[in-house]
Amino acid sequence: MGDKVTGYTAMSRSEELVPRVYDAPVLKADEVRVAVTHCGICGSDLQAVDDTYQVFDFPFVPGHEVVGIIREVGDGMAGQGLREVRALPAGAAAAVSGSGG
Ligand SMILES: [Zn+2]
Repeated sequence: MGDKVTGYTAMSRSEELVPRVYDAPVLKADEVRVAVTHCGICGSDLQAVDDTYQVFDFPFVPGHEVVGIIREVGDGMAGQGLREVRALPAGAAAAVSGSGG
């Protein structure tokens, strides 16, 4: 059995976030697995939980601005514009932000 992840989850639109445990997804070649130690919640996340634009599926785990520890780096990171991430070893601290906020 694979790793488990706990995410504070909106089970449906505009619901209060509750802790939910699920299987960690298989790491793809162009992804980095980060054990999140801190997570910000911004206006974009609130719009997502409220599904303001009706584009999200639920259950939904908000939070796209995080700080944590790199646990794994995908094999295909080179050439993806993420070389600086690939240069960090597992165990390094990382701050990550999505493009939306
Ligand atoms: Zn944001």
